[in-house]
Amino acid sequence: MKPRTNAFERPSAKTPGNPDSKSNIGVILLLGPPGVGKGTQAISLSKVWGIPCISTGELLRSNVAKSMHLGREIREIMNRGELVPDSLINEMVASRIGEPDTARGYILDGFPRTLDQAIWLTERVTAPLVVHPIFAVRIHVGQSQLLRRITGRRHCPRCQATFNIYENRPRNEGFCDRDATALIHRPDDEEEILKTRLRLHDALTEPVIEHFKTHGLFVEVSGDGPIEWITQRILGAHELLTTALRARESHPVINEEHEP
Ligand code: AMP
Repeated sequence: MKPRTNAFERPSAKTPGNPDSKSNIGVILLLGPPGVGKGTQAISLSKVWGIPCISTGELLRSNVAKSMHLGREIREIMNRGELVPDSLINEMVASRIGEPDTARGYILDGFPRTLDQAIWLTERVTAPLVVHPIFAVRIHVGQSQLLRRITGRRHCPRCQATFNIYENRPRNEGFCDRDATALIHRPDDEEEILKTRLRLHDALTEPVIEHFKTHGLFVEVSGDGPIEWITQRILGAHELLTTALRARESHPVINEEHEP
């Protein structure tokens, strides 16, 4: 699939990821296992670029909380650490990415997780009237770091904010910084359920990555170190890929570690 090179306007500022308010950032996919820091990076990048971050886990949790119709069955699937059906997720994503705040692009956290979702998204984003390039970013960390991040994760059931008792502590221990709600450990972050989630991730991710190596732009970044370092790695990689995309007629495949 050919990228739409004319979709880009060159960012005016020299700092990576500091584009003018009109530039087209594209569709940023954050890929990687649960706990790797996708949600945290999605929020940081969203602030820098001024585009929305869309987390399918969050959309599901808030839809489940609101809707009796979706409620029980979906909650049970999520609590078992399994994936909800592609058709339901795709419909939810379609509705969210159709909103006007996505005009310059958006960040997807937790989507796509299956090859069918990846194909659906690619077709949708490259439809005749849509002009966003796709940047797939895989974040990776070692297994012990991953477990520490997940066991330390604390979640606000009201506003969906996420904290970590080791790396991103709330100001008031046990309470959300935004709305002072008592933080919880998500049921699906419990160790047994987590094993299912990690197993599913490992089984399903490679085809998704392979898909985006040929149908988009793909980069792998290390998720080690402070939050800001990882954000800088992603911004740097995006800058690099944006430049490469502008320079090439046919789509490139770039797969390299990018350090700040
Ligand atoms: P997350 O907050 O991204 O870890 O997602 C929490 C749960 O929501 C997952 O374990 C799945 O049950 C469900 N979920 C989130 N995104 C997807 C997706 N793209 N496809 C299927 N299920 C999803």
